[in-house]
Parts: sequence; C-alpha cells; structure tokens
Amino acid sequence: MRVFCASIATETNTFSPLRTDFTDFEQSFYAAPGDHPETPTLCSAVFPALRKRARAGDIELVEGTATWAEPGGLVNARTWARLRDEVLDQLRAALPVDAVVLGLHGAMIADGCVDCEGVLIEAVRQITGPKTKIGVTFDPHSHLSARRVENADVITVFKEFPHTDFAETGENCVDLTLRAARSEITPTLSVFDVRMIDVLPTSRAPMRGFVDKMLALEADGSALSISTIHGFMAGDSPDLGAKIIVISDGNQNAGDKLAHDLGMELFSFRGTTKPEFLTVEDALTAANDAKTGPVVIADVWDNPGGGVAGDSTILLRAALDMKLKSLALATIWDPMAVRLCHAAGEGAQLDLRFGGKTSAFAGAPIDATVTVMKIANDAVQSFGASVVPLGDCAVIHIDGIDVVLNSNRSQAFSPDLFTNLGIDIRSRKILVVKSTNHFHGAFASVASEILYAAVNGPYPNDPTQTKYTRLTRPLWPIAANPFEVENA
Ligand SMILES: [Zn+2]
Repeated sequence: MRVFCASIATETNTFSPLRTDFTDFEQSFYAAPGDHPETPTLCSAVFPALRKRARAGDIELVEGTATWAEPGGLVNARTWARLRDEVLDQLRAALPVDAVVLGLHGAMIADGCVDCEGVLIEAVRQITGPKTKIGVTFDPHSHLSARRVENADVITVFKEFPHTDFAETGENCVDLTLRAARSEITPTLSVFDVRMIDVLPTSRAPMRGFVDKMLALEADGSALSISTIHGFMAGDSPDLGAKIIVISDGNQNAGDKLAHDLGMELFSFRGTTKPEFLTVEDALTAANDAKTGPVVIADVWDNPGGGVAGDSTILLRAALDMKLKSLALATIWDPMAVRLCHAAGEGAQLDLRFGGKTSAFAGAPIDATVTVMKIANDAVQSFGASVVPLGDCAVIHIDGIDVVLNSNRSQAFSPDLFTNLGIDIRSRKILVVKSTNHFHGAFASVASEILYAAVNGPYPNDPTQTKYTRLTRPLWPIAANPFEVENA
C-alpha cells in the first residue's frame, strides 16, 4: 500500500493588521520531503503516525512538504499558490497511491481564495481519482466547507481545547484512512451545521462533559469517529461556525441522527462555555491580593495564536501604573527591540521603546529605562511533544517587572517559555501570558490560580460587532434564533 502525506497549515485572521507570506511559514516550521522531525507539530502529527507504520512494513510512505505558519493575517496569493502547487506536484510524482493523508489546520484564507483547504482537497481528489482514500486532520478553529466534506473520506479534528490531543487525532486519521484503503471499513461522513460561533474551552464544563461524551460514543462503537468544529470567529468565511462531524461505518442515517443530536446539544451550550472574563484592573488587583502565587493571568484576546501580533501593551501599562512588583509577562513581539537588547548585551541598561507598534488598538509603545536580564538566540518553548520556536529573545526588567520580548510570534504554551530564559516562575506573584486557552494545559499545574482578562484590541472578539461580509446563513449570536429564522 502506497501512501502520500503532506501538511500545509495556518490560521488566518482576516481582520488582523498582519499579512502572511512564505517567510512566516519558513520561520515557524518548514520541512521539505524527508526533513520532518521525529516529533509531531500541531498540524503534522500524521507524519510520525505514518512513519511508524512504514517502519513496521505496513505501508510504503511518500512524504511531501510539511509547513506551518503562526496564525496571522491574510496569506498572500503567491505564497498560497507556491505551497499548493508544491504539494500537488509532489503528489503527481508519487502516483499511484492508495491513500493520501493531509495534516491541515482548516482556517487558511489567502488573497483570492476563501477556502484554501477545500481547494487543496478537491485538487488532490482530481489527481488521485475516486478510489484513493483521502484522510484529513483539522484544528477545531476552522471552517468546514461542503467542498472538503465531498472530497475527503476521513476527517478527524482535535477534540480538546487546549489541543492536547493533536497526536491522537493524527493517529486516528491515519488508522481510519488505512483501514478504509484496505476495505475493512466504509467511512461515511455526516455533518450537522450548529449555526453558532462561540469560544468553547474543553478544560471546563459544559464542554468537558461534551468531549467525554464524544469519546465514550467512539469507545462504545456508536461511530468510527466524532468531531466538533468550533469555528474561528476571526476568519471572514462563508462556512464560519460550529459543525459536528460523525463518521459511521456505512450507516448514513444513523450518522446523520447522531450528528444532529450532538449538534443540538452543543447549540444548547451557547453563551455558557467561556470562563469569567475580567477587566484588566480587576484581574491585576485580584492577582495582587492573592495569598500565594504565581497567579496566571491570560491576556485572552492579544493571542498571537489567534492571528494578532501579540504586541499589546495595555495590560503591562496597567501593571506599571499600579506599581506591581514580582510580575513576569510573556511575550511582547518586537524584533526591533530584541535586536537593540542583543546589541546592548546582558546586564546593560538602556532607554528602550517596545511593543504597541502594529495596531492602533493595542496600546501605545512603552518607553522605559530597562535592564537587559537575558538574551538568547533561537529560544524555544514546548507544547506537549512539539517544540515551538520563539526566535531571538530578550528578557528586560523594569522596576519589579520582567518582560519577555520575542522575534518569532507565538502564543504562550508552557512555563518553560519563562524558565528557559532564566525567569524563576515560582518566585513570581503574577505571570501574564498571551493566550486564550492553550496555556491552560501546562500552566494549570504551576499556577495557584488562573484568571482570564479580556482586553480589547485588534482581535474581533464580539461576532455581533464584527463586519463579516461572507456569511451565507443565520448564526448565533448574530441571529438570536438561527434555526427559527430558517423555518419562518
Ligand atoms: Zn485551534
């Protein structure tokens, strides 16, 4: 059995002031055929899963390109065409193949193409013909189009947010796709459109129970696979919104019913899934009043993982104004400030302007006399088994506050974001991280408490206020009763 795999992944915030080109893919992760590391990345876990089977002699594997760009703004047209054609040419050269497995994100939008993954999967289908089995993995923060469903045989999606199960999702996709290619199963996709867009962290009720239910239904044989697309509210896509995917073994009616029932259960959770979001002042005051530390405060909307720059200074400015001590913040994206700190050297003092440069809505740059505590080339943090590059970094100190400046945009995943750069987190009272919920997995074990601060910025965090131009159907919360609108 011959299998081809490839991975093209990013998440496009069409409202972001940023733009994404090939350099962003290169800086985040780019592996030419054969160069993929042994460890998975978030969207390329199908590579190590397939290699394992190739080593066992089960398949002959032909690897294509694997690449990922940190979520950002619109992907430029030439970059999308280059990556698409690169992978499709590799596939043509690999023919004939029995199966194709693609590690995708599912929220990539390019200049001139609103459904990059749909176009890619359809092109793969046209090249391979109808018999080849096509398996795909998506991030739940994606847009599920009919084009993707029509052309793929197997779709699996991370169930967890934070996405701690990305390796399992890749394994499941590979397993089902290969079983289908051996004619052991007939994967049949059922999709239900939940018509809502919300933030759905699975580290807490009610989504925790919903994920456990999906897992139990898979375990008891009710379906081969069950997935929930959460949707990505910062992407202006005609397919915006939550969807349920059930893969049955050739039983369309049963799959459709299960997808419908799970979908309506998810719809009943609308508006109740998010943790309490505090104001900046309330979050900082509560953290400062806490008896033990470190209290972790998430700056939920200035999350580079959602496609904004991650250089907002609003929360840091408030902490400086409140004269808080014993606070560490990671990260503020500012390659120019990092360069100046590297030029000054460890231990140097300098007057530095940093942050607040890419958006009119993310606070003004901060001007301060800082001490350079640490400089590092090519710093990294971990995210489960995957290694996330931060680029050259500097830690600066201002009157009791340490700030990590980075030159590769990345959200906060793990405490080693601080400790790799010499910041002792257990001695700090407050840790501020830029992340919506991915930080939760690894920070929960070191935090005395976790607080979420909602700071307005360039991220479009209220769908009722966001100027979507491509919506094709009613969607909660923009429509109060999206299913009734249909019936009226
Ligand atoms: Zn995601």
